[in-house]
Amino acid sequence: MLRRQAQRESAARTYARSLPIVPVRARGLTIEGADGRRYLDCLSGAGTLALGHNHPVVLEAIRKVLDSGAPLHVLDLATPVKDAFTTELFATLPAGLADDARIQFCGPAGTDAVEAALKLVRTATGRTGVVAFSGAYHGMTAGALDVSGGATDVRVARLPYPQDYRCPFGIGGERGAELAARWTETALDDPKSGVPAPAGMILEPVQGEGGVIPAPDGWLRRMREITAARSIPLIADEVQTGVGRTGTFWAVEHSGVVPDVMVLSKAIGGSLPLAVVVYRSELDAWEPGAHAGTFRGNQLAMAAGAATLAYVRENGLAARAGTLGTRMLGRLQGLAAAHPCIGDVRGRGLMIGVELVDPEAQGPDDLAPPPDPALATTVQRQCLDRGLIVELGGRHNAVVRLLPPLTLTDEQAAAVLDRFADALAAAER
Ligand code: PMP
Repeated sequence: MLRRQAQRESAARTYARSLPIVPVRARGLTIEGADGRRYLDCLSGAGTLALGHNHPVVLEAIRKVLDSGAPLHVLDLATPVKDAFTTELFATLPAGLADDARIQFCGPAGTDAVEAALKLVRTATGRTGVVAFSGAYHGMTAGALDVSGGATDVRVARLPYPQDYRCPFGIGGERGAELAARWTETALDDPKSGVPAPAGMILEPVQGEGGVIPAPDGWLRRMREITAARSIPLIADEVQTGVGRTGTFWAVEHSGVVPDVMVLSKAIGGSLPLAVVVYRSELDAWEPGAHAGTFRGNQLAMAAGAATLAYVRENGLAARAGTLGTRMLGRLQGLAAAHPCIGDVRGRGLMIGVELVDPEAQGPDDLAPPPDPALATTVQRQCLDRGLIVELGGRHNAVVRLLPPLTLTDEQAAAVLDRFADALAAAER
């Protein structure tokens, strides 16, 4: 069956290619394969499963809609399910946006919400340019690709994202981040830069696919000042960082920054497809019908999402993700001290990255040894052999990423790290 499916599917598929598992059951952190083997799933549907697989409150919320006889798909009309979702979502929004927010339901994926956000700020400002950042990931549709790292759309200025490790300015820390901020300021004030008056700036508070790189709070505040001073709407893409993952409900809360637009997906649907844009009402320059899309009315996703948001809020899971994440980072840093092939350990909350390097080789910049994607792939494979599913990412695909559910227990966290440490030791041999 695995082979038949592999032959039928596009070569573009990513996650599944390296995982010879046929999942048939799942609960919490655990996935069970058709062969009866169990795996600890630290991919969590690429960060979608805030409460893990098949959490009882999510299943209950879905069942309630199914049993009620309510329509499963309702486009644009008000429903009790949609009202409950929106009320719960608005209750979590950062103060300063919550009082005055509008919501646009978008077609089911994160990338659809990114498209909507770009279109929204372009309509509201009448301008076209967009400021985005190196290494960013915003999705796979055309507009989202334009603002992701590596794209070349002429309307998009791609400015340096602050990086402690492999800092483009060679210093890292607060000073490196300040230099990155000044670079952005200069580009915006230079009429020859191509984006002196952009329609918006889009950023991830923690780059996920780009290699789990948390932006310093100071840099985010500088981006807020810089955009506010020039009346440029600031778009926070919290598709991956949202719903408690980084230790606060939304990652921008660490810095106190209130964006003008937030792009939300993944965990807000409680494991079903859902994507929205929330934004300040003054940006609402859309005419009726200006934005549409058939699959914006999934009632099951809204019900599962509302249950997830409420559960995270009522059980303080954001703060729990923060403390547990700090402890896990501490243990991984200890591992790094004993393994020179770990170049860097970083993250925020339960969004954790371990960058693997070739410590023997000379890096191009003398700052750090070169990334080792082959070793990362071996570690991923060794993890799988030990019943642990991890994902790779980063600019060179050499970052092992851990995105466990926020319901992770201390014992499960220890088991994940034990297996990872074993896998690393085996891969190094
Ligand atoms: N933005 C960010 C920050 C993401 O991490 C992702 C997906 N990894 C997306 C947008 C795109 O979401 P989707 O894959 O649902 O289109």
